[in-house]
Amino acid sequence: MRLLFTLVFSFITLSVFSQEATRQDSLRGSITPQRAWWDIVHYDLSVTVIPASKSLIGTNIMTYRVLEEGTTELQIDLQSPMELTAVMQDGHSLDVRTEGAAHFIQLESAQKAGELKAIRLSFEGKPRAAVNPPWDGGITWQQDSNGKHFIASSNQGIGSSIWWPNRDHPADEVDSLDMHVTVPKDLVDVSNGRLVGIDSTTSSKTYHWAVRNPINNYGVNINIGDYVNFSEVYKGEKGPLDMSYWVLREDEKKARAQFTQAPMMMEAFEHWFGPYPFYEDSFKLVQAPYLGMEHQSSVTYGNKFKNGYLGKDLSGTGQGLKFDFIIIHESGHEWFANNITNKDVADMWIHESFTNYSENLYLDYHFGKDAASEYVIGLRKNIRNDRPIIGTYDVNRSGSGDMYYKGANMLHTIRTIVDNDELWRETLRGLNKEFYHKTTTSAMVEDFMSRKLNQNLAPIFDQYLRTVKIPTFEYKVSKKKLSYRYTNVISDFSMPLSIMINGKLQWLAPADQWQELKMSKKIIDMSILEDFYIQTRKL
Ligand SMILES: [Zn+2]
Repeated sequence: MRLLFTLVFSFITLSVFSQEATRQDSLRGSITPQRAWWDIVHYDLSVTVIPASKSLIGTNIMTYRVLEEGTTELQIDLQSPMELTAVMQDGHSLDVRTEGAAHFIQLESAQKAGELKAIRLSFEGKPRAAVNPPWDGGITWQQDSNGKHFIASSNQGIGSSIWWPNRDHPADEVDSLDMHVTVPKDLVDVSNGRLVGIDSTTSSKTYHWAVRNPINNYGVNINIGDYVNFSEVYKGEKGPLDMSYWVLREDEKKARAQFTQAPMMMEAFEHWFGPYPFYEDSFKLVQAPYLGMEHQSSVTYGNKFKNGYLGKDLSGTGQGLKFDFIIIHESGHEWFANNITNKDVADMWIHESFTNYSENLYLDYHFGKDAASEYVIGLRKNIRNDRPIIGTYDVNRSGSGDMYYKGANMLHTIRTIVDNDELWRETLRGLNKEFYHKTTTSAMVEDFMSRKLNQNLAPIFDQYLRTVKIPTFEYKVSKKKLSYRYTNVISDFSMPLSIMINGKLQWLAPADQWQELKMSKKIIDMSILEDFYIQTRKL
């Protein structure tokens, strides 16, 4: 997600952008020497959630593989006011050197290359309460209309280390995850993956959830409430897929009606992107006390069972009211964010541009290509061109919120240039194969697309992702002659463009130098396809 109620989003991004990167930003956002020598393999996270005191207490047993010997410090992240209360390895309690949210564990036993090691992290405290979830996250402590607790974590951006200790950097995903979440006995916890067991005492229940695929940190979540469950088996590309829905008891009826869009989503996205990436872990929609988030295999939902974005159409065309924004957008992230994950949040367009674009592909699949085009073109009114889409590397800084609408329009423009929908679909599916369960960089995605589409897209990516300049197509018509060029472009920019001229479609290859097209007859009408996200100026 990281979506935008436009004002809220701009406030957050601008305030973050205006600050210089600090030592804490570097510790969080880079592969420090204390992170570089080991690879995270498994988390076994146990947490007791105490609603009465709004506190958490737990342990995370972390298994990692030693890549390089010779280091004696290991970095773990946990943000104040949560406290790391004990660290154990091989039966010994270890010392910790703390620098803000970074905790450098002083190892005592040998760390041999190739070896698997485990470390036990104990933690407790009253975690930061979410201020404006999911954008300004933490833990949301609410109650439903029956007075039952309704609690959820959301931590994109701020980081999962807001509530549990882990390696809080996106480049290295844990290979699998077990969660044991203990809650008062009248409540249910829904987390990622599959429910493999429930342990009960007289006062509490512990829900054991297991994820058998790599998962990004910000996707790990707890959702606690008076949930009821219903489910279906979807006949997917890889076979039967369990689709399961967890909603508050009071909302079951509405959810049963609205969530019929979930299998429609699955059908459209498997068509465009390939098989759902986490069959082993199932797909879930889980009601949450905030708008929603792409938590892997437990997508959270709080769109009030309405179509659009809280009942509104972000495109202003009416097309956005044909689907439930949160079901479609957040589930689209299962392919772009959860399957293909950025190594650095500076490249977060890989998550948000493709997922914003996926909304238009959903429309394309169920309502036709014209509806889809109208929607994505309509979204342009939300573009700001305030700063580049690609952010700052190694300091936990994502780029402009334009990664949504502008990124989607860049992809739509490329699809229009490619002019071969089957190849375009193969490329989207190819991305999900090439980067299956991997973390990646923008450069790798850009190269893959250029190769697969047989076009040098580098100037287009550089222009749209790395500058705020929108190409301007300048043209002059005189009798039988059309003169044209691009301005407001990076050097060596070129991008094919199709125009209608004298009633016929004509491809041009404009660049920053004037070119001419000579027609056999006087030019009586000329128009530029709206699918290209450019500006035009008639001279
Ligand atoms: Zn999103």
